[in-house]
Amino acid sequence: MTLSKPSWEYAPAPESLKVDIAPEYGLFIDGAFRVPRSGRMFATINPATEEPLAQVAEADAADVNDAVVAARKALKGWRKLPALERAKYLYRIARRIQERARELAVLETMDNGKPIRETRDEDVPLAAAHFFHHAGWCDKLRYALPTATGADPRPIGVCGQVIPWNFPLLMAAWKIAPALACGNTVVLKPAETTPLTALRLAEILQEVDLPRGVVNIVTGAGATGRELVHHADVDKVAFTGSTDVGRAIATAVAGTSKRLTLELGGKSPNIIFADAPIDQAVEGIVSAIWVNQGQVCCAGSRLLVEESIVDEVIEKLRHRMRSLRVGNPLDKNTDVGAINSRAQLERIEGYIRTAASEGATHNSVSDAALPSRGFWCHPCFFTGVQPAHTIAREEIFGPVLAVMTFRTPDEAVARANNTMYGLSAGIWTSRGSKAYEIARQIKAGVVWCNTFNQFDAAAPFGGYRESGFGREGGRAGLAAYLA
Ligand code: NAD
Ligand code: MN
Repeated sequence: MTLSKPSWEYAPAPESLKVDIAPEYGLFIDGAFRVPRSGRMFATINPATEEPLAQVAEADAADVNDAVVAARKALKGWRKLPALERAKYLYRIARRIQERARELAVLETMDNGKPIRETRDEDVPLAAAHFFHHAGWCDKLRYALPTATGADPRPIGVCGQVIPWNFPLLMAAWKIAPALACGNTVVLKPAETTPLTALRLAEILQEVDLPRGVVNIVTGAGATGRELVHHADVDKVAFTGSTDVGRAIATAVAGTSKRLTLELGGKSPNIIFADAPIDQAVEGIVSAIWVNQGQVCCAGSRLLVEESIVDEVIEKLRHRMRSLRVGNPLDKNTDVGAINSRAQLERIEGYIRTAASEGATHNSVSDAALPSRGFWCHPCFFTGVQPAHTIAREEIFGPVLAVMTFRTPDEAVARANNTMYGLSAGIWTSRGSKAYEIARQIKAGVVWCNTFNQFDAAAPFGGYRESGFGREGGRAGLAAYLA
């Protein structure tokens, strides 16, 4: 018997597509789905196939006003509810997210383009964890933020929340869970390319009998978000998105009595010292920049390697990059899925062209085939990058890594802090004292040591400088939702 030539290719392992998607989704206002007053709908597509998935309502000023009115009306009853009762709703939401986890993961992957392995193992479990965590805080707020009288701190009121497309369900959970735990009501606007999991969450809110109006979901693009943040009866604005839009929102809110938190962009350093466990560090580089196609605000997009080991690190990184499987996001073996939109893909490709024209060297997997439809970008890294190069300074929000070197710890710190951002950083060393010493000097909201992109509902997340202000998660995150 002769065996056929062995192949190390995996067989395709697609996740079942069985998930109900309605042809049309209305706005979720005052506990019910309804057609928009605007009369306008828009399509959300699957970026891996370019096929439309559903038509979604586009909320105008009148629709946003309806949602804010519903949230205002619901506020009185919701904040007066005994804290333990409030907690039960959050627990129920968390449990229901777990029960419907597969459906949410498939839907997220179809609407966003990210691999099913990530939605299944990260996005959805973390979204549930966020509700579980905050359920536990509801009746302990006076311990979280003690008041002079010992009474419970008060909620702020109606929260207008605007979120991006890179972690659609998870960002909805990050926004809604603490707001509700603290007794606020919510109007949430998901990103225009990824509205479907937030709308599915609205169904879950109906299933758990959340009092109507406590959470309202208005879909639409930037104009809808603008109506929400400008609305006079919104008490607090919470925004996650680009630094440019964040700046516009800060200007709009300045001079009003509105409270504001901003989670913006980043250009985070990932620092590898010569004494680091190299293979582990290479895995850390991969998860820092190529997870979610690099469309992560805290992506480790600037790799800083100690000069003595740079050749070894680059060789191992090149080898590892070749093993990444790019393609159908619904395949359980896929490592790198589709870029979220054509506009984002064009932005990324623009940065790749600029980097080459500025003299950096492109390292990628040139011979690998990509699907003929959809928005795809091979993971890549650039060597020969100077700190003044565009790709060393600007957020790309794609699977593009800029590699630079340093000679001394002081130089590593100086280079790491040489940015207008300050969201996250990674430090790789086998010496604990060095990790602490360096972490102390890095200007970033989150510093990971010998790991990257680890999240926990109890750990606050947020930025410095142009990466925004305010924290989400844990005790620190509650402050943003209490008066
Ligand atoms: P974006 O700023 O264009 O959009 C974010 C959201 O804001 C969307 O819902 C959008 O419709 C809405 N929006 C757009 N213009 C608006 C306006 N004028 N007023 C009110 N709302 C408006 O960003 P994006 O392209 O969707 O997301 C990518 C950016 O988000 C990246 O820069 C990334 O770093 C950042 N981000 C930050 C975090 C964080 O936690 N710091 C998390 C995820 C993404
Ligand atoms: Mn979509």
